[in-house]
Amino acid sequence: MISIIILTGTALILSVILVVVNTLINKEDKRVSEIEKMLPGLNCGGCGYGSCKGMACEILKNREAYLNCRPLRGEKKEAFIEFLKTLK
Ligand code: SF4
Repeated sequence: MISIIILTGTALILSVILVVVNTLINKEDKRVSEIEKMLPGLNCGGCGYGSCKGMACEILKNREAYLNCRPLRGEKKEAFIEFLKTLK
């Protein structure tokens, strides 16, 4: 009986830890996907980050990384710069 209680308690604690970690990971993923939506979406790799998602991840570390995206220009680039100002 005690072993069932211990196993149940352990499972509950692990479940809570998994939920917390998953929440933290998804928080970052939301920012990456928001940035990615604002990029051209060509996934050409011309920026050196392999894909638009790679660029989005880099922008979280270096806000000026978008300058390496040549297809990002004109109104889309201006919109992206405004978007970056709102990014936390
Ligand atoms: S250069 Fe721009 S369009 Fe090409 S993969 Fe990088 S971010 Fe995407």
